[in-house]
Amino acid sequence: MWDSKFKQALPILEKIESAGYQAFFVGGSVRNCILAISITDVDIATSASPAVIQELFPKVIPVGIEHGTVIVRQDRQSFEVTTFRSEGSYSDKRHPDQVTFITDIDMDLSRRDFTMNALAMDRHGDIRDPFDGQTDIHNKKIRTVGNPTDRFMEDPLRMMRAFRFVSQLGFTIEADTLMAVKSSIDWIDSLAVERLAKELEKLFAGGYYMEAIGLCSEVNLWGYLPVFNEIADVSAILGNISAPFNRLYEVFTYIKLTHPAISIKDMIKKWKQSNQTYHATSQLVEAMDVYKKAGLTNWLVYQLPSERYDSFIRLVKVLLAEQISIHQLNQVETSLPIKNRQMIDFSGNDLIHIYPNRSKGPWLQTYLNEIEYAIVANELANNYTEIKEWVMKWHPPEIE
Ligand code: ATP
Ligand code: MG
Repeated sequence: MWDSKFKQALPILEKIESAGYQAFFVGGSVRNCILAISITDVDIATSASPAVIQELFPKVIPVGIEHGTVIVRQDRQSFEVTTFRSEGSYSDKRHPDQVTFITDIDMDLSRRDFTMNALAMDRHGDIRDPFDGQTDIHNKKIRTVGNPTDRFMEDPLRMMRAFRFVSQLGFTIEADTLMAVKSSIDWIDSLAVERLAKELEKLFAGGYYMEAIGLCSEVNLWGYLPVFNEIADVSAILGNISAPFNRLYEVFTYIKLTHPAISIKDMIKKWKQSNQTYHATSQLVEAMDVYKKAGLTNWLVYQLPSERYDSFIRLVKVLLAEQISIHQLNQVETSLPIKNRQMIDFSGNDLIHIYPNRSKGPWLQTYLNEIEYAIVANELANNYTEIKEWVMKWHPPEIE
């Protein structure tokens, strides 16, 4: 049976064809369809130019129009539609120097990284497979289209992609391709870290991440990745990961907690990650520190946003070999006396009222933090009168 994602995309293929052009499903969707595993995204390749696609469909987002890629929005879904193209050389090892639009699907397939990804399927389910990708899929082999060293020189990211496919699919790298990886691995350091980061995140998240990490250690990938290349025992440390990490910030948290001397800021900067990734890492490191000292306290759960619960559970499992459940976290969350500081029945103005002779300053924040902590820890009721008495007990107002 066809995946529902193909069915949703079928009208796009039909519309392009009825306008007199060719259109195929390509890439990972066809590969995964043959493997009978779930599809992440459906990529479409077409002989129509981006301009034609823009005319044919009402909602088109020109995401990479110079490379021939647009996104067609259909029923609130996005489909990448890329014009058949051949690529020139990659002098910067990032983008092809020039892209030429062509009308031959087989030529388009020949620029693709691996035989398993160089398949096209038409709207009837017929498959084009000029590089015998189906045999490689059957044998679980990752093999470049054409000479592996040439293909890795054009774009070294393909090596990184090979590792993440090992992790996601449980395939092995075919012997000649692996030999080329070994002799070409140092080209990795010419790549933009943002591109590397996307593949690395998928690598740590795959079901066969252990095999992938072992392979990366074998070919010394870590020596060419920022931060990882500063860790002396990197292979051992990564080899100890006992469950996949879903997000890069989980990996960063793991590194920080196993190597406290590495700064989170530095890691984020070297990997050019977002502020959001920085905050997620910091929150998880903090939560792990609290957990190690005091267990699953109110304060830990209060501070950890619920969208980090899954990551936290994974990290506890990997770093401490302890199992906690989402149910436990939800239970603590439900029992919290307050959910955020806006719910505190006491304000900065109330404090100024108690200490009229003091000028505004950092003491206000310190006192509010103490109140917040005491309420969350159930040491103080969230009630104006009790809070007032509590503050005055711990910080007696100065006598005039
Ligand atoms: P996923 O299931 O994760 O989406 P995918 O194989 O579809 O895997 P994408 O990154 O979506 O991977 O790329 C779509 C297709 O584009 C690939 O299957 C491959 O044919 C081609 N491709 C992607 N990156 C490269 C590259 N660096 N060099 C050559 N071909 C590439
Ligand atoms: Mg894809």
